[in-house]
Amino acid sequence: MSDSDSDLDFDVVVIGAGNAGLTAATTLQRAGVRTLLVERHSVPGGCATSFRRGRYEFEVALHQLSGLGTEGQAFSLRPLLTSLGVAEHLEFVEERDLYRAVVPGVYDVTLPADWAGAIDVLEAEFPGNRSRIERFFDLVRNVTFWQVAAMDGLPAEQVDPLLFRQGLRPFKDVLDDHFDDERLKSVLGAYWGYLGLPPSRLPFQDLALVLFAYLEFKPWHIRGGSQMLSRALLDSFLRAGGEVRFHTAAAAIRTRGGRVAGVRLDTGERVSAAEVVSNVSLPATYAMLEGLPAPAAVARDLGTRRPGISGFVLHMGLDATPAELGFTASTNFVNVDMDDDRTFAAMRGLEPVRGIVASSYDVEPIGFAPPGASHVSLMTLQYADAWQALPPAEYALAKFAYAEGLLDLLETVTPGVRDAIEEVDVATPLTMERYLGHPGGAFYGYEQDAADGWPFRGIRRESHVPGLHLAGSWVGMGGFQPTLQSGAAVAGRLLESKGAYA
Ligand SMILES: Cc1cc2nc3c(=O)[nH]c(=O)nc-3n(C[C@H](O)[C@H](O)[C@H](O)COP(=O)(O)OP(=O)(O)OC[C@H]3O[C@@H](n4cnc5c(N)ncnc54)[C@H](O)[C@@H]3O)c2cc1C
Repeated sequence: MSDSDSDLDFDVVVIGAGNAGLTAATTLQRAGVRTLLVERHSVPGGCATSFRRGRYEFEVALHQLSGLGTEGQAFSLRPLLTSLGVAEHLEFVEERDLYRAVVPGVYDVTLPADWAGAIDVLEAEFPGNRSRIERFFDLVRNVTFWQVAAMDGLPAEQVDPLLFRQGLRPFKDVLDDHFDDERLKSVLGAYWGYLGLPPSRLPFQDLALVLFAYLEFKPWHIRGGSQMLSRALLDSFLRAGGEVRFHTAAAAIRTRGGRVAGVRLDTGERVSAAEVVSNVSLPATYAMLEGLPAPAAVARDLGTRRPGISGFVLHMGLDATPAELGFTASTNFVNVDMDDDRTFAAMRGLEPVRGIVASSYDVEPIGFAPPGASHVSLMTLQYADAWQALPPAEYALAKFAYAEGLLDLLETVTPGVRDAIEEVDVATPLTMERYLGHPGGAFYGYEQDAADGWPFRGIRRESHVPGLHLAGSWVGMGGFQPTLQSGAAVAGRLLESKGAYA
């Protein structure tokens, strides 16, 4: 659709080159749809990027990639990346361990990334629990199976009621049903540090999905980091004839006659396109609609939702190997104690951090550090509010003081890391907000508690505005696998509905 007042004409404009924007644009362009990809940053990827400091490349986001599966037992992400022409350009690096979980003086347990091995380790650490752990893992598998089937559209009456009985219960209640030992519960719950809600509030099905994903299909890294994946997707898009604009933001989504007519760029250029795929936050997407108020149902929905959690990250280039520093696992959850509710409450303020995930990218090297050195990042999830409330003059001091707290906690497990620091960088929730453009720097989209999850909200990809399509963490689950799949699914539906492109 071209019109006389437009400078550029495409079939589809994709706003945002995050995971979902990249897979949507690549899917469309490879099917012959003339697609313009618009990204306000200078590189593709959104969260899925890396940056250089001295001799080191620093990974921004990826701690553990789910969804690949092994060569012999591939899961959904592997065929997707193959069909988009990128898998052959990437080298995937398997993590041996699920994670090491430590509360100093209380427990220090490393779980291997397989069901039987994890049961053996847990039984050795907490004797007498084997059959309880087996029962718990069975429930994890069953709830996940039915959850995935329900999310894929299986009618509710065909879904095993087990999902509805157990899935939305607080994870803590399910743990309490199975176990007496608080340490064992704490070790099994470590992944709440990724999900952003403590076990007392986290729906069991969410934790079950993550445990299942990594135990069944293994945690992975990518040689060269997540930027390599983003770059490979962009290259595939460009090879197919797609056009990308970096350093360019969509300023408005143009409408005519109640449907999408294109976008206006912050360069002032007007692009005509009958379809727009938005990979940016829902509030920002609807705020961009020009000449059309957000439909009443959307306004109501947006008014009742809360942006989710963001994070604070300390990136370090260390002049020592993982072995010299004492890192034995790639992924390490370190908490000061087992009071998860208190740790979650602390994520709203600037009191010293109480829980971190420490990722060593050189236990299974991905090429981010030169020989003899290593890249380690420390992350704690955190809301933006306390950072937003700080006077600008206090911001820099506050962020370095807070970073010291992360280092202090790490040094309870691997003393000597401070002495090996060669390069360092710090990202707060405000950094995430600035780079991604998302409210509060929320990198998983909306808060993912039970009321905000798919059982009540559904998985929304259509927007109530004809021609506007939604992809990414703000319209489903956050995380690499879900967002990569979300973009491809949106593009697939668009292609189905528009046989006319053929
Ligand atoms: C520190 C950190 C650690 C994480 N760890 C993990 C992990 O280990 N495993 C995991 O699975 N997930 C992890 N995640 C979450 C995961 O990275 C995100 O949920 C996912 O990448 C979000 O993808 P998205 O498609 O929603 O797009 P986003 O990454 O949110 O990207 C949106 C893009 O839109 C662009 N944009 C915004 N507004 C405009 C505009 N007006 N015009 C043009 N472009 C615009 C932004 O610049 C950005 O590039 C982590 C994230 C972070 C930040």
